[in-house]
Amino acid sequence: MNRYAIINKKDELSNDIANKLKTELNQFMIYDEHNPELVISVGGDGTMLHSVHHYQYIIDDVCFVGIHTGTLGFLTDYQKEEYMELVNDIKNGKYNIYHRCLLDVKTNKGSFFALNEMRIVNVHRSQVLDVFINESDFETFRGCGMCVSTASGSTALNKSIGGAVVYSEAGIIQLSEIAGIHHNAYRSLGSSLILDKSHSIRFESNNFKGSVLGIDHLSYSLDDVEYIEVKLSQHSVRFVQFKKITLIGRLKRSFLDV
Ligand code: NAP
Ligand code: MN
Repeated sequence: MNRYAIINKKDELSNDIANKLKTELNQFMIYDEHNPELVISVGGDGTMLHSVHHYQYIIDDVCFVGIHTGTLGFLTDYQKEEYMELVNDIKNGKYNIYHRCLLDVKTNKGSFFALNEMRIVNVHRSQVLDVFINESDFETFRGCGMCVSTASGSTALNKSIGGAVVYSEAGIIQLSEIAGIHHNAYRSLGSSLILDKSHSIRFESNNFKGSVLGIDHLSYSLDDVEYIEVKLSQHSVRFVQFKKITLIGRLKRSFLDV
């Protein structure tokens, strides 16, 4: 890898690490903001989401690696004090590439991709959603909304709403409810549903007014939308792995160790 770019969070520590990285990397690589082979994200998992969306136009050709300037991240492998380790790992060039799946999200208004999840959320009133799986009618949901997560996103919003944590490279989509209403009149599955790449999920509603479509760190009004369709994308995001950090290790450090 010869051409690199850095995207960093705009705080002092992240700026400082980005500058130090540039000084080191410019000795053997070229900074190329428009056509990098490697993007280094310095910040949080949110910064990595931003980086991946920013380089959407070269998504099949570019690789990502992250330095976390907060606590340990899920999409970022290096801690803030390990930036020289990253420089040396890049210089030594011994790495594996691993792929994280993306969601392909389509509405009658446009197309999006998501690394973590897509969510339909209404905070004004209960949202009715007719859910179709592979074109056949599955359920009618009522509640605050629904979320479709990738394996990468399974530790983000998906986890907060009771979804399962999934091994990062698994090619699955996970449909979970956000505060579903369940009683005799309103019935939906209630638990998370995990499907593979042969499935697509379509949401329809007579009234999306007031609902928001969340895509990773982004959000869009659903006011004039008629349907939303989600499936696994044919594209994926390539992450460079210099050192092996297991999902189990990350889970323990992030959620269990005090
Ligand atoms: P944010 O409000 O800073 O994100 C909320 C938290 O989610 C942050 O701690 C963020 O880490 C973490 N996060 C992001 N992606 C993750 C992943 N794949 N695994 C584990 N944790 C993850 O907003 P943001 O930084 O722009 O991130 C957007 C994401 O936030 C959305 O995709 C959604 O999943 C998540 N979110 C979660 C909730 C919730 O759990 N109730 C609510 C809103 C949004 P950093 O601090 O390192 O950025
Ligand atoms: Mn964040």
